[in-house]
Amino acid sequence: MSWAERSAANLLPLSVEQRRFPVALREWVYAGDMYDMETPGGTCELCGHPDIRYHFKIVNQHNGNEMLVGSECINRFGIAATDPLGNVLNPEESRQRVNRDRRFLVTEAKKRKLINTLVELAGVEEQFNIQSFISYVMERDAFTPDQLAVLFWRLDQHHIGYTPTDFKLTIRRDREKTQLRRMAAWKIRKLWPALSASQRRWVQENTDYESVAFSASKVWPFHPIWFDRRRPRLSKPLIEYVTGNTPSWAHETIRNWEEVYSRSGAVDMINFVTREVFEPMSQADMREVIGQYDHYAGQTWLDAAIDPQYKPSKMRSVFRMYDENPSYYFTGKLENGICLSSLNGGPWFSDSGGNHRTVVAKFACERKFEETGIYPHVSGVMKHHYFADLEALDLFKRLLEFRDHGIHVSVERRRLNESRLHGKHLFEYTPAFFVWDSRFGGDARSQWLCAQQFRRFARHVLRQNGQITRLERLQHYWLQFGRSDYESLIYKSQ
Ligand SMILES: [Zn+2]
Repeated sequence: MSWAERSAANLLPLSVEQRRFPVALREWVYAGDMYDMETPGGTCELCGHPDIRYHFKIVNQHNGNEMLVGSECINRFGIAATDPLGNVLNPEESRQRVNRDRRFLVTEAKKRKLINTLVELAGVEEQFNIQSFISYVMERDAFTPDQLAVLFWRLDQHHIGYTPTDFKLTIRRDREKTQLRRMAAWKIRKLWPALSASQRRWVQENTDYESVAFSASKVWPFHPIWFDRRRPRLSKPLIEYVTGNTPSWAHETIRNWEEVYSRSGAVDMINFVTREVFEPMSQADMREVIGQYDHYAGQTWLDAAIDPQYKPSKMRSVFRMYDENPSYYFTGKLENGICLSSLNGGPWFSDSGGNHRTVVAKFACERKFEETGIYPHVSGVMKHHYFADLEALDLFKRLLEFRDHGIHVSVERRRLNESRLHGKHLFEYTPAFFVWDSRFGGDARSQWLCAQQFRRFARHVLRQNGQITRLERLQHYWLQFGRSDYESLIYKSQ
């Protein structure tokens, strides 16, 4: 028997018209009585379809017979609905009424389930003010981001099962938007399933939260077992190693590149750099990496891994990426994704890229070392060697303090040369100093000095603590009147 035949066999005996199914159908109306059976265990009395949860009552207008049917059947057979006053609606209006009522049932069901969840939570947590939550959700049909974050956290704490999508969030008010803006990424991740599509867009545009880092096709943040299903994991997740076998260096604070290579403040280090060597796709010993530029600097390596102060979702994703692809750091696939800088051959800092990966790679190398006895090198690193004239820098800083004596100094960097050799890219520079010395009165003496001249001048001034000797004053007059030299600086140039 076909679906239509089966439906006719069920409907005709309860109708006045006993033979023609389309005519009999016109005797029936849906008047707005609907029921949620709470479980999809019912059967449609019209077509016999099983697993029906939401039942809609249709009534025969001639004999008062009733049937409980699914909403699809009402729509498919074009059974008319009535409005609350009993007026029969046209087919389009009828369909709208049925669909609206079904949505209502679904929403009510979610709300009921949600309130049951709240009640269950109130039963185990005395401090939980269930009444405020219930009245809020009754009134607004949704929670604020902070409310929902607290709720999910408490439900998790008490192992109370819930369906995140049953909960709705409201971010219409500024206060609610502010809550989301300030919210830690791990909390936003919890809320994510409860967010509507437009709310998700808002979060992506207005917060640092990255729901899916690296690859848009991977939806792992909410399905952490996704990888387990697809490919067997050979060893336990790296983050478990980090927390379980924490190496001693992980308790050291991540140093800031800014301490070593300061570009802020009165003196910009870059002007004292005489040589920069870029070495792409090279090897790095991660034990020599002691810091970063900002990002996690100031935290310990352990904290950066498990409680990162910056973009925690990205940190977690980079850890998972490693679990998925453990050869990533060792076969060159990194492709300069980690950029390490060092000054004058000192230790390394990640500065312009790969700050998350640097943290992960240090732990990955350590674990490999424990497993194999050999400390591996990370391949495919962009190394950036800086060499700077730190002596000139130090003298420059000290001369700045002689401004009140009438000595002004400034510096700029001039490029000398650029070359490529064996895949390395080399730049050479020299600092150029402009010194303005008004200690002799009248017009100041001023001159461009190279680094070597500057060092001599600076030492000379420092030796005399900024004072000029009688001999120097004579020298000044002699240059001025004897040689018409009003500009040369007076110092021991040899
Ligand atoms: Zn049916």
